Amino acid sequence: MKTTKIQWTDSTVNPVMGCGGCELWPTSSRKVERALTDSLGGNSTAVLQGLVSGWTPQDFARRKSELAQTLADELGNPEVGPKAKAAIDGACRCYAGVLHARYSGHSPGYAQNFNRPEFFAGRMLEASRWSDLRGRIRPNKPWLNGFPRLIFVSDMGDALVKEMPFALLQKEIIEVVASEKGRRHVWLWLTKRPARMAAFSDWLHERYIPWPDNLVAMTSVTSRRTVGRVDDLRRVRCRLKGLSVEPLWESVKLPLDGIDWVIVGGESGSAANPFDLAWARELREQCREAEVAFFVKQLGANPMNEGSDLKLGDRHGGDWAEWPEDLRVREFPETFRSVAYELRRSADVGGAA
Ligand code: SF4
Repeated sequence: MKTTKIQWTDSTVNPVMGCGGCELWPTSSRKVERALTDSLGGNSTAVLQGLVSGWTPQDFARRKSELAQTLADELGNPEVGPKAKAAIDGACRCYAGVLHARYSGHSPGYAQNFNRPEFFAGRMLEASRWSDLRGRIRPNKPWLNGFPRLIFVSDMGDALVKEMPFALLQKEIIEVVASEKGRRHVWLWLTKRPARMAAFSDWLHERYIPWPDNLVAMTSVTSRRTVGRVDDLRRVRCRLKGLSVEPLWESVKLPLDGIDWVIVGGESGSAANPFDLAWARELREQCREAEVAFFVKQLGANPMNEGSDLKLGDRHGGDWAEWPEDLRVREFPETFRSVAYELRRSADVGGAA
């Protein structure tokens, strides 16, 4: 079946490429080695250490097939190869990390090492000049009808890693979002480090620099273990806050007080964990009760409905025409319409196509 990848926002901009890791990507290669020895057992530890000395997590993702073959040869067991690949896929799940493993070093615009983030100055400024979509009808994305352009900030890294100085974030992100061109759009800034985002908002506050209303502060929740991030997000001094509950790995109860928007989705990729649609339905009800806008982004590569696997044509589960009808919900906070400030007519003219 021919499938179409559905883009859920209008655009993405990546001022930072690379990341210090999270539950989807190991902070050190030791975690990958442990996943491999847990999976392969026996005498694999000594063999492995001789092969991967000095490797980064990116090296494991990049050289996965070669390592799997060598391990199978050295251990004299062809079953080791697929097991080793699955262990690496399970430890290195972040698609941004996987893309870095594939492209960095020979494609421009990628960090040299995914675990050492790099700032690419000027990308936000360029995005701010994108055309104004306020009030537009979007035949291919009807959920966006009438809303300003939504720009997702950082899907290839995390700008709130400790290496990024607050002064740089202020110049490259805050100033651009608050600029005359930037105010025509709504920017969705996602981090897995909401405590640092809150500290950044304090830093701005101390300097009398306002957090722009059209910059939505967002964090991710993947399991009960990471629900605590919501409390950190709540401390960010800003008007609009959202949660990306993706990939969702289990049923979660979210503290929604002070939250404006919840996105939910299942995991993509060959190592995708199952996504039980009952978890999405529970969240939908939590959002309805708390009067929070709810948005289903994708069902992922391994969705389950009422105890059975749900077979979908789209490999990300992103085609909502294939979903159960009750989950075709893509809402935004109404405030998104008003926070993209009105500009003088003259300033509206001349946006890039
Ligand atoms: S980019 Fe996001 S998902 Fe990937 S490792 Fe960093 S925080 Fe995790």
